[in-house]
Amino acid sequence: MERTTALYDRDAYRTEFEATVLSSAQAEDGAFRVILDQTCFFPEQGGQTADRGLLWREQDREYAATVIDARIADGVVTHICDRPFLPGDRVKGRISWQRRLDFMRQHTGEHILSGVVCGRFRYHNVGFHLSDHGVTVDYDGPLDEDQLREVERAANEAVLRDLPVIAWYPDKQEIEALSYRSKKELSGAVRLVSIPGIDLCACCVPHVRHTGEVGMIKVLSMIRWKGGVRLSIACGQRALEAFTQKQRVLAGLTDLMTAGEEDLADNVRKLRQELKESKARCREAEGQMLLLRAGEIPAEQQNALLFVSEADEDSVSEAVKALTARHPGISGVLCGDDEQGYRFMLGSPGRDLRPLAAFLRERGVKGGGSSDLIRGFGRLPKAAWETLIKEWNGPDI
Ligand SMILES: [Zn+2]
Repeated sequence: MERTTALYDRDAYRTEFEATVLSSAQAEDGAFRVILDQTCFFPEQGGQTADRGLLWREQDREYAATVIDARIADGVVTHICDRPFLPGDRVKGRISWQRRLDFMRQHTGEHILSGVVCGRFRYHNVGFHLSDHGVTVDYDGPLDEDQLREVERAANEAVLRDLPVIAWYPDKQEIEALSYRSKKELSGAVRLVSIPGIDLCACCVPHVRHTGEVGMIKVLSMIRWKGGVRLSIACGQRALEAFTQKQRVLAGLTDLMTAGEEDLADNVRKLRQELKESKARCREAEGQMLLLRAGEIPAEQQNALLFVSEADEDSVSEAVKALTARHPGISGVLCGDDEQGYRFMLGSPGRDLRPLAAFLRERGVKGGGSSDLIRGFGRLPKAAWETLIKEWNGPDI
């Protein structure tokens, strides 16, 4: 099959084209693989998702197929369509321009950012991903917060200067004299994309004509990635959407906290401290209440099981200690209710409790522990726990 003439390569702003169908076949997934002599559809490559759009018969406007994807292999572009064509059909095509323009903005924005990073820190772009959902770019060296802001500021300065973005195929002599960024060793004709003073990079993807068209370049997040960093970025309308979204979140928070944006962090810190202190007071009261209830169980009772709805681990542990000091059989605290089941901690002053844990496990209860203390969880009602403990230990006096 002859290489497809890549119209997207010559003119990134062209949205409509005419072509001849060279082949059309249905694949196993049910979709149709359509090959044309030329196309404006940029196929998925270089980390970027393909264009979407329509193809229709020149003679029959009603017969239109949606292009849901496009792929390239050995220079041949395959359009993945929801309807077939016949070899020899004359067709017209139109790409989804809003989406293409958005992708061009993100991609040129990435080149500006990567050019700045490479120029200042000699780090290279070693991974790139651009789809409808987001843009990420990986660099092979670390950046701190201040360096990141400096890079972002310089990238946006390049946008505001509205520099030209030039794509061309240099001849062999010219390319040997140039130093450019490239993610891999390239064979065949190399397409270079230049932003004077900022970046020179080998790239096969459509770009905007001037940096001003990119709009704001905003780094949304930075994480450590394989010895370097991974940035999530947004350009143009995506940057605006991200800003609006953050504003919405902030407005919700300032409303909730009845505080200005600049006081939010202090207010939340204060709240967290208050919450921590309240929780501590609550735990203390809970612990005292558990001990009081433990003390109310008659001392002559052999087993002493205390059922509560909720209590923290330390309070339960203290209560179990108090119970086992007063009762010779099996004592413990069970937290929960009949519907959800009970989390238990059981102790005994003299008996090895590991066989009890095994006995309970045989009845669907999860848990285990040491000879003098076992814990776990079981979906049994209160009455069943009391019966099981009596059964194992013998009845109360
Ligand atoms: Zn590129």
